[in-house]
Amino acid sequence: MSSRLSATSAIVTNVQRYSLHDGGGIRTVAFLKGCPFRCPWCCNPENLSFEPELSLKENLCIHCSPRPHGELCSTTVELCPTRAKEIMGTPREVEDLLEDMLRDRIFFEESGGGITLSGGEALAREPFVCSFFSAAKKQGIHTALETTLALPLYDARRLVAVVDSFLVDFKIADHATSKKLLGLDPEIRDANLRTILSEGASVIARMPIVPGFTDGLDNVRANAAKLCELGIVRADVLPFHQLGENKYSYVGRPYTLHDVQPPTDNQIAEIVAILEDAGLSVVIDGE
Ligand code: SF4
Ligand code: SF4
Repeated sequence: MSSRLSATSAIVTNVQRYSLHDGGGIRTVAFLKGCPFRCPWCCNPENLSFEPELSLKENLCIHCSPRPHGELCSTTVELCPTRAKEIMGTPREVEDLLEDMLRDRIFFEESGGGITLSGGEALAREPFVCSFFSAAKKQGIHTALETTLALPLYDARRLVAVVDSFLVDFKIADHATSKKLLGLDPEIRDANLRTILSEGASVIARMPIVPGFTDGLDNVRANAAKLCELGIVRADVLPFHQLGENKYSYVGRPYTLHDVQPPTDNQIAEIVAILEDAGLSVVIDGE
């Protein structure tokens, strides 16, 4: 993780406006850079590294500058005429980022929306998350945090005080398989969930349905059982898509799921039935 950042700054790749799937109503979402986990289906590969990094969109490059052996040209990002070259990630301060996101305040007020921090794993910058949402709460803004919750928490009470809605991932239920394939320990998440739920947190589970990884019905049942045990009542089902595929080549990362097809409607219906039979309230795509 970057050590140069203070509690009031974070590296942000994107501020996405008018989002309808990230915490209720119309949301403005900021994506914080950096994640210690490695989900093969991650649709934000530009947010994995904790540092700003160079991105190259080959389809925009007009080869106006020499690129021996296909390597990068020496032209600076600022002088690239087509924006094929870009730096992903800009350090942002709490006040500057909040002011930017609050340009959409009218939409929040009319839709019951608000602001959301996503990533990467935003909790890797927990002090920033707390400072940022604390400033937002002073402005009366609804706050949501998209997170694995699978990192040690520094100050759960402070976090719960400023996050109105936690959107928490439930992916591979088996502890050993999750650690091996994703580097993510669901037992840390569950311990954190018990802590924040005891502090009164509002939690929605998010379940990406990725063929070959999370779509097994035993995996779905195990996640459903865990949600019921924890007392979480809503599960958002997020069918796999290939929307992040191109971004892997932009930042020079390998992508291994080219041939994976999205789950069928019948598969999703079967998964929804299992979750509903367990007593959960299910929303597809987090709408
Ligand atoms: S300046 Fe931009 S468009 Fe020109 S060769 Fe370099 S990357 Fe490609
Ligand atoms: S935890 Fe989220 S950001 Fe990190 S690799 Fe997995 S999907 Fe990507």
